[in-house]
Amino acid sequence: MILALSSLVLPAAAMASGLPSGWDVWTDSGAFTITSDAAPDAGGRPASAVVVGWPAYTDSQTGWAGTVSMTLQLPAGGGARFEVDVADDCPGPTVGYHFATIAVDGSKVWDRDVGGASSGPERVSVDLPRAGETVEVVLGLEERQAVSNYPVRVWFIGPRLVTSDGAIELLPAPAVDGDEALPPDRPIRSAPVRGRAWTSRARVCGVWAVTQWDSVVNAEERAPWLAEEFGLDTIIFLPPESHNTLVGEQHRLTEEQFAAALRTYREAGFRILIYSSLTHLGHGPEWMDGTLARDRPGWLQRGPEGETLNLWGSDWLCPNTGALVYSLERTRRLVRAYEPDGVMLDCHSFHHTQNGMSCYCDGCQAAFREYLSERFGRHVLGRPTRYTRIPKAQGPLYALWLHWRNRVWAHVTERLRRELRRTQPGLVLLSNTQYLYQSPALAQDGEYLHEDVVLSESRGMSMPLMVAKLMLGRALAGGRPIWNYLGTFREDDLTRLLDPETVSWNVSTAYACGTRPWVVYYGFFEHPDDAVNADALSRLGTTLVWHNAHDPADRSLRPYAPILSVMSIASRNARNNALIPPGFIELRRRGVAAWLIEEEHVTRKALAGARVVVIEEGSSLSHAAAQRIAKWVRSGGRLIAASGTGAYDELGRLRSRGSMAAALGIEAYGRAPLQIGRGTAESLQGYGSTDELVEALGE
Ligand SMILES: [Zn+2]
Repeated sequence: MILALSSLVLPAAAMASGLPSGWDVWTDSGAFTITSDAAPDAGGRPASAVVVGWPAYTDSQTGWAGTVSMTLQLPAGGGARFEVDVADDCPGPTVGYHFATIAVDGSKVWDRDVGGASSGPERVSVDLPRAGETVEVVLGLEERQAVSNYPVRVWFIGPRLVTSDGAIELLPAPAVDGDEALPPDRPIRSAPVRGRAWTSRARVCGVWAVTQWDSVVNAEERAPWLAEEFGLDTIIFLPPESHNTLVGEQHRLTEEQFAAALRTYREAGFRILIYSSLTHLGHGPEWMDGTLARDRPGWLQRGPEGETLNLWGSDWLCPNTGALVYSLERTRRLVRAYEPDGVMLDCHSFHHTQNGMSCYCDGCQAAFREYLSERFGRHVLGRPTRYTRIPKAQGPLYALWLHWRNRVWAHVTERLRRELRRTQPGLVLLSNTQYLYQSPALAQDGEYLHEDVVLSESRGMSMPLMVAKLMLGRALAGGRPIWNYLGTFREDDLTRLLDPETVSWNVSTAYACGTRPWVVYYGFFEHPDDAVNADALSRLGTTLVWHNAHDPADRSLRPYAPILSVMSIASRNARNNALIPPGFIELRRRGVAAWLIEEEHVTRKALAGARVVVIEEGSSLSHAAAQRIAKWVRSGGRLIAASGTGAYDELGRLRSRGSMAAALGIEAYGRAPLQIGRGTAESLQGYGSTDELVEALGE
């Protein structure tokens, strides 16, 4: 349809039902998604957008396109141009499939591969020379190669016709609802960290199932061997009642065998950890055989449709039910019986089903409402608190629920730590956190500051990803020791070790990143008669022993990095930002000394040593963090920030001005660096690609 310039006053309400009048949609397939949204433009100002997307797990065909178009009447005087800022949500490197495109009267005038380069908004300007005529502008997503599972969304932000008389916006003004400050959260107090003297030096041996059986029945031989040949000094066991649910008859253990083994390991200098869990009761028998799921249906985690989560043997338990005290009492019994130095809680998290994340159980519904009424009073986000139920669709309340889920596990971890320490003062408590999990499903991000050691796994990872993950661990751990469960074994055959070179590199990388090795007892004894693992085992031993003799903790070296890359859990939860900024991974890969810092840990002291601060993924950066960074810029720092930094609040609602721009006192980012006090602020979008950024910072 033809749109006369005079008819461009569009009601904002039209956005709710889709695109405003004047826009036409045309697609080759009903799978393309066309929606309206609001987003920060290339300068960081809020603007309305049309979004063209392709969903996950959906086959496309080469040549398909999804488009929105508008016909514009150009002014008689000439000199008109069409401008729009284009962004996408593809952080990955996969190129050659989806392209954002702009066409005028059937001719393509611009395109961009959504993969590879930066995904932030890029300003595109197209001259429209045919004075006095009408032209059709088509914005689209085009499939240059078919995909089967490659979701993407492309935002066309603030489309406008620019004439000599000024700009005419082609979408109505965006709804801005993120300026209202939320009532503060009640802090969750944290007990002091215990055991640092030994946990910060620990070399942990992890056993499981048949390997636990071997380490126990052959303890007299194994304990001194593991200590002397490998320098290991800490070992984690499942209690026999749990171990026996995981193995066949011939590999079961008695309490007597287990107690004797504990004595032997202790004599060889080992610290002892006991394996437990709330969600699956540490594979306790009444959980594994389904008794609890049958007798206590109200204790089970539930997905959005009320479905249970059956993982690793039976249905997972929820901490907002009687399962909390039940599992606490069980773990307390284990602590009394075995007097361990520490307890490790596995799968200490929510999870997800095919319908969405957990947990929607009655206990969670009530606990979430209680949190809302404590923090917000009688109304939350415009609705009565007492009738609020956990939402199933994304939005501000959903973002608030994601945040609350993290608080649940923080509370649970803290409570278990305090209660178990009443039984055994000095006990070290840790949970197996997957801090690089691809979505907020696990809700473990609140736990790190309520445990004594932060543990995660780096098995099966490439070297750059392992380094990035360990750097992420450092950013989250708040100075706590980090234990890294290493990949020393083959994923396709747990009895075989990786080649000696890889084993050695993985151990050294863990040490180089300032973390402690957790070595799994796979491949140590399964092939006694052949040399299949001999070289790798010998290399593992010499590498561990070498590092133990050259421990950086023995020298007062303080590692230094001039570049700090800010990451933000709130931005991941509210806006699906990447946890590890892509530019950061690239910097480390090329040997540029850079560290990650979580926005909550951005303090004057943390910023003091930095020369450059980079914010790639901080859509929901808090005002508090932005203000601390702005202060550092004024005192001479160099900031490179995505123009949309802090454009949304922590619930994903658009702010009238991004928190970073507001703290810097600027209206919008330009192409050139802005002088702010004695420092400068630059837009990340000034760098065309991650490569350009890395080159600029590598100097
Ligand atoms: Zn629940």
